Amino acid sequence: MGHSYQFICKDCKTSQQLYEGWGFMVHDQAVSDYLQSSQLKLHYKTHQKILQLNKTHKNLHLKMEYRIFRCRKCLQVSDRLFVQVMQEDKVLHKTRFKCSSCKITLTHTNIHSLKYAICPKCKSNRFKKSKELVLWN
Ligand SMILES: [Zn+2]
Ligand SMILES: [Zn+2]
Repeated sequence: MGHSYQFICKDCKTSQQLYEGWGFMVHDQAVSDYLQSSQLKLHYKTHQKILQLNKTHKNLHLKMEYRIFRCRKCLQVSDRLFVQVMQEDKVLHKTRFKCSSCKITLTHTNIHSLKYAICPKCKSNRFKKSKELVLWN
């Protein structure tokens, strides 16, 4: 199941839509299925890593979902597709993300306890969650 959250800036009215969870294309699957499918495009670095691991390991599968991150430095929020390459319950690789402005590593944010973020446009701290929708049931 996926959730969509809308953030709105109380000052300049800029809005941003963020996703969390999984959906039609984004769901757990075997690496062999992923490699045969041309519909899902992962980041090229993730794709390279999957190809590399697939050469040396058998029965790999992917766990993937959208996650919401807030940079601890600039406090801007973003959603990213988080992918883990697994062999049974062992994680062989997981994607890491960096803030595009600060270049520091992002850590997963609990959207439910997130009180505010910084507006990407006017940098106000009155950038707040306004709506929550359930998608992809
Ligand atoms: Zn704003
Ligand atoms: Zn940042």
